[in-house]
Amino acid sequence: MSETHEQLMEKIVALSKRRGFIFQSSEIYGGINGFWDYGPLGVELKRNIKDVWWHDMVRRRNDMVGLDSAIIMNPKVWEASGHVVSFNDPLVDCTGCRARYRADQIFTVVAAEADNELLAAGVEANDEQHAREQATAAANSKTRRRIKQRGDDLSWAVFRADQGGDGRPALCPNCNAELTAARKFNMMFKTFVGAMEDSSAVAYLRPETAQGIFANYKNVLDTSRMRLPFGIAQIGKSFRNEINPRNYIFRSREFEQMEIEFFCHASGADQWYRYWRDARFQWYVDLGLTSSKLRLRDHDQDELAHYAASCADVEYEFPFGVSELEGVANRTDYDLSRHQEFSGRDMSYYDDQTKERFIPYVIEPSGGVDRAALAFLCEAYTEDQAPDEHGNPQPRTVMKFHPRLAPIKLAVFPLVKREGMPELAQRIYDEATGSGLSAFYDEKGAVGRRYRRQDEAGTPFCATVDGQSLEDNTVTVRDRDTLEQIRLPADEVVSWVAERIR
Ligand code: ATP
Repeated sequence: MSETHEQLMEKIVALSKRRGFIFQSSEIYGGINGFWDYGPLGVELKRNIKDVWWHDMVRRRNDMVGLDSAIIMNPKVWEASGHVVSFNDPLVDCTGCRARYRADQIFTVVAAEADNELLAAGVEANDEQHAREQATAAANSKTRRRIKQRGDDLSWAVFRADQGGDGRPALCPNCNAELTAARKFNMMFKTFVGAMEDSSAVAYLRPETAQGIFANYKNVLDTSRMRLPFGIAQIGKSFRNEINPRNYIFRSREFEQMEIEFFCHASGADQWYRYWRDARFQWYVDLGLTSSKLRLRDHDQDELAHYAASCADVEYEFPFGVSELEGVANRTDYDLSRHQEFSGRDMSYYDDQTKERFIPYVIEPSGGVDRAALAFLCEAYTEDQAPDEHGNPQPRTVMKFHPRLAPIKLAVFPLVKREGMPELAQRIYDEATGSGLSAFYDEKGAVGRRYRRQDEAGTPFCATVDGQSLEDNTVTVRDRDTLEQIRLPADEVVSWVAERIR
């Protein structure tokens, strides 16, 4: 990460804390690594992300229904899903300073792969130094992805290879002492259900919401009268005991997911996969993530999990690098078949028209609420200039959230605290909150300062009641991004704003 990227990230983190978007969890006790709290502005942002997703993915579609399943489920669910056996991350320890790392974040290049890449890049570019750098970078990310996706024994062996691939153990980036060989670490949080703390009482906090959907697939089918193709959507908390929580809220141990399992016939699966991959990408674009920072990356065939027919990641270029926001996968009939096998319940679907009985395929778009929130925060963060009271340009920090996502939609100010201005401003504020708009009333300090505070909160519109308002019942409405000011009749402000945040 270059100096400026690091600084940018620091600024975003500082603003998030200063303005009450995100706090470290249990901060008064020194915090706890991998857990975060959302403050008054953050909770509105996060709620808006979830509401917009629910509105767009569930309410506006006639082929989708919602679900809210329990966080703790019968542990057999996690045997069937494969999580008990293979939801592992490779762990290595430093024999010197005792630091603990995820191996795939340390062991970067496997020699053979690096050589291949080098060869390919070397042929293309004529500059050896450049080719070498390019090749190493390419091999790094590719190897890491492969290791993560496959998780098989070959991958574990790969961790023993050091950066140069000459058989020596890798060294700790912190103290340069040798690292141990990798061992498997299951990321599911364990707990006990009931009064007995023995092995029969072990249960897990769910590491994904998806399995709650599979476990209820028959219930939904039998009660909702949905017919294939259709989807079940769920938003909820998930927990992973990540070895190295990092990059702010990007990788944490408690987080929220927005997941869809879309059930269809095998013959239509590829088409639905491509539909959902593109639709989910477009959703982020429509909410303001500029296309240049947002990417859609199709997985290579050898990156795919053994049950997946195809997979793509929606990735975003965060200040700390390009990382996954959401994965979309064609998971075939793997999940329902496994649950049929482990539960003994019939998971098949009967098509009345074709008279065919089969286990549906499933397409899974699986996104993280916190990662989306972080991407929207990063994208919104802008430093520009705005004129002060005297018309002189001053630097400002402004969060340019899409209006649908902005925590506060409308701020209302009386220019001064007298002559009936507060009363009119209060009336507009009441009308806004009464109609479901999140609004903010502020009468303290210079109006320029009040604008700046709303700019940092990302409020798209500010309405100011001034002397003229009392004569002709109009107010000034200022646009956060263009700084343009227009006059509107006071009783039209709320509907005008409502129109623009749809
Ligand atoms: P990663 O490679 O970053 O660990 P993953 O591929 O394991 O992610 P999935 O299991 O596909 O992630 O989970 C689906 C989505 O859930 C991810 O795209 C991400 O948005 C979110 N997610 C997963 N793990 C975390 C985490 N530790 N913190 C925050 N969000 C997460």
